[in-house]
Amino acid sequence: MPSVRQRLRSAKADALTDVEANMLLTGCRDWYDFAVVLLPWKMGVRIGEVQHIRASWIDWDKMIMQLPSRQLCSCYECRAWRNGIWSPKSEAGIRGLMIVEEVEGLLREMGEGVNRSRQCLESRFMRIRERSGLLKPCYPHCLRASFAIKMAEGGMSAPALAYVMGWAGLRPAEFYIQSSMRRAHQEQKAIIGGE
Ligand SMILES: [Zn+2]
Repeated sequence: MPSVRQRLRSAKADALTDVEANMLLTGCRDWYDFAVVLLPWKMGVRIGEVQHIRASWIDWDKMIMQLPSRQLCSCYECRAWRNGIWSPKSEAGIRGLMIVEEVEGLLREMGEGVNRSRQCLESRFMRIRERSGLLKPCYPHCLRASFAIKMAEGGMSAPALAYVMGWAGLRPAEFYIQSSMRRAHQEQKAIIGGE
């Protein structure tokens, strides 16, 4: 089993640039497709979470998507392996995410959720990639890594990054922040100042 650091390194190495992720959008045909691309890319949502979004998660007044600690679910995976109860990957997965402009229309269309199996969403992603013509191998998690990189490079702190990503500890967030050259150079420039 690879270490946390090795796993993070590979997800980060596989992250898509904005240009590549925009290419994926050209392969999207319906709102299911957009959900699979936009939610991980713009909000860091895991594909297993995308699969379980319900209307009750969304607070349109506060513009927050709140992941519950558990919910009844009749999808294939939850029936087969979880006694019909879905819950986030860990307690840290129970988080409130800011609904960003790019996904607002999509979430309004989703209504009661995608109601598809995880495998179905993953194969949708592969078809989107094929249609888009993007040659780089990728999977939905790569877009979550793209989101983490963008937040780390923009100056987000490790605790805030761990919160939005739903990580239980700070190590993964620190890894993303530590390996950002842009961020290191920005801080260096601020110290050197007007020299
Ligand atoms: Zn389920």
